[in-house]
Amino acid sequence: MASRNISQAVARRSIEVHSQELKIAMESGRPAQTSWHFPEGQGQTLTLVPISVWQRSVGVIGFVSKRSAKDLRDAELLNGIGLAVGLSIENLRQRLGLEDALSLLTATLDSTADGILVVDTSGKIVSYNRRFGEMWRVPEDVLARRDDNFALSYVLDQVEDPADFLRKVGELYSMPEEPSADVLQFKDGRVFERLSQPQRVGGVTVGRVWCFRDITERKQSEETIRHLAYHDALTDLPNRALFTDRLTVSLAQARRTGLGVAVMFLDIDRFKLVNDTLGHGGGDELLCAIGAELTDLVRDGDTVARVGGDEFIVLLTSFEERDAVTAIAERVLETIRRPRTVIDQELRVTTSLGVAVYPDDGSDVETLLRNADTAMYRAKQSGRDNYQAYTPAMSAEILNRVSLEADLRRALERGEFSIHYQPQVNRETWEITGAEGLLRWEHPTRGMVYPADFVPIAEDTGLIVPIGEWVLREACLANKRWQDQGLPPLTVTVNLSAQHFQQANQVSTIGSALSDANLEPQYLELEITEGTTIQDPNFAARVLDDLRQMGVRISIDDFGTGYSSLGYLKRFRIDRLKIDRSFVNDLTTDANDAAIASAVILLAHSLGLRVVAEGVETEEQLRFLLDHNCDEYQGYLIGRPEPEDVFKKTLARVEERAVYFARFVDRVTSEPG
Ligand code: C2E
Ligand code: CA
Ligand code: CA
Repeated sequence: MASRNISQAVARRSIEVHSQELKIAMESGRPAQTSWHFPEGQGQTLTLVPISVWQRSVGVIGFVSKRSAKDLRDAELLNGIGLAVGLSIENLRQRLGLEDALSLLTATLDSTADGILVVDTSGKIVSYNRRFGEMWRVPEDVLARRDDNFALSYVLDQVEDPADFLRKVGELYSMPEEPSADVLQFKDGRVFERLSQPQRVGGVTVGRVWCFRDITERKQSEETIRHLAYHDALTDLPNRALFTDRLTVSLAQARRTGLGVAVMFLDIDRFKLVNDTLGHGGGDELLCAIGAELTDLVRDGDTVARVGGDEFIVLLTSFEERDAVTAIAERVLETIRRPRTVIDQELRVTTSLGVAVYPDDGSDVETLLRNADTAMYRAKQSGRDNYQAYTPAMSAEILNRVSLEADLRRALERGEFSIHYQPQVNRETWEITGAEGLLRWEHPTRGMVYPADFVPIAEDTGLIVPIGEWVLREACLANKRWQDQGLPPLTVTVNLSAQHFQQANQVSTIGSALSDANLEPQYLELEITEGTTIQDPNFAARVLDDLRQMGVRISIDDFGTGYSSLGYLKRFRIDRLKIDRSFVNDLTTDANDAAIASAVILLAHSLGLRVVAEGVETEEQLRFLLDHNCDEYQGYLIGRPEPEDVFKKTLARVEERAVYFARFVDRVTSEPG
């Protein structure tokens, strides 16, 4: 609100210009000059010096010459002083006395949380606020002496690095124009931010303003946040972000020193089992223990990080030979293997480990991490509890697998699967009494893909269950079609993966596949492996009972390659054993395989089981099996797996086959064995 006096004494236009300048001075923080025009036409210069306390403008001091002051005083603008202080445009327009202004300024300074000290060029303390004394724990009477050097002696032994503190102070006093900003560390843990700026009056440096801000809490919370951002909450080990930072630094060093850097990727084997049996508390305890052991095992400059679930990565630095990494990898495997007590139970786990070494296996963070991961994956595939050094071939394989996996996910809905049928004949009539349904994948660009290349992926991804259900339904429908077309009835066998077998609803799925196709159950046979029954024998026994109840047949595939014995299989209700192809293959060359095959046939018969030999390729093999009373035969000699239309033609040539085998049997039995 403009006072009447001003409006009387100063031309209106002048006030406007002045207000504008004042505003600019306040906002820019830079001194400005403006002119006051009296109605009589004289111009007077007014220098406006903004006062800002660390970025915040708290006011503007207007300086006028003595002569101007006289004029202004005469004009009743300033009451006998050459200095005008205003805190805002309005305030300046009012006739503020200096004392009022200063007390307001002091109040402002006192109310800030920062400690402020103003020292002039001669080392005299010009001004300070209460907070300054509190923060620096300098008694009021010391400050009252207005001697900066004297006050300094009080603060020196509080800071962590007094020499540095003094050096900085001296430096700044010798360069009065330099602003500065730094951080002071106190012996008691406090942290101050120190800002300093020259104090200028009318463009002349008259001293220095120091501002201190206590940022201890901020620093502490920053520290906490940084720690959280860079560490794993469970084990307190570095996390991937910190690991990545350290790896980046190590790589830069390695480029200079030529010393080695390696990344080790570790995944605990079957960790899920630990969680399932000991609960998550047990899993967590194990992870913490392993984290600590790994940290103990590596050198101080190395880093052990946890990067998710049961995965750890280790950064090994400054080694001279690749062998050093091998040695550490072996020590890690050994350490993890040792039994430990978790939730009062003795527990043994193993780990799979992949290693990538700079620069051979990658020269940047991502490549090294990715390749170590790839090598770890290979270690898992090679039976776990081992380590693998990365090789480029692994990457090609993984890439191939990743793309196959993506395609496999869409193969079902795109109708890319089909079943090929391979005939099985019996020794009595040589009629086709069965056919094994074998899955084929017609890939849009790769062409025909065989189960060996995609069934393992389907198993890893769980896709085997929907795929297996499709095979089951399709095989039932096809078999029914053949019967409806008047072809001789036969049993179609379908391979059931362990994962599929474990599905709670699989018995009813099989039931509905049969009823939807309107196929009688005895025309469906399921092939399972010994491994499938071993995972949970009681469950397996129940399911097999249910299936037998339903009328579906069961055979044990790949017999002889697994861990179990015929005695073990006695408890399950099964119909047939399939002697694995590997034994049949070497029957005529390997006496051992021949002995196993004949023993299996004998024992199976004593248990009332029929025996199928698979992979029969030669007449010699067939002759051996005939001699040993094998019941059924499957293999290229009898017929290859064929698409449905081809298989149906084979099926129709009953006569031909019977004649062929009658001649063959005549020949082999009349020849001296
Ligand atoms: P498997 O159950 O042991 O199937 C027999 C494999 O031996 C088939 O290979 C078949 O083509 C091949 N074979 C048959 N006779 C001969 C022979 O005289 N000589 C030689 N060298 N090989 C012969 P295929 O079709 O590549 O299947 C491989 C494996 O894939 C199967 O082994 C089976 O474990 C799995 N598989 C095939 N289809 C399915 C399916 O629908 N579901 C599931 N879960 N697995 C399947
Ligand atoms: Ca099979
Ligand atoms: Ca087999």
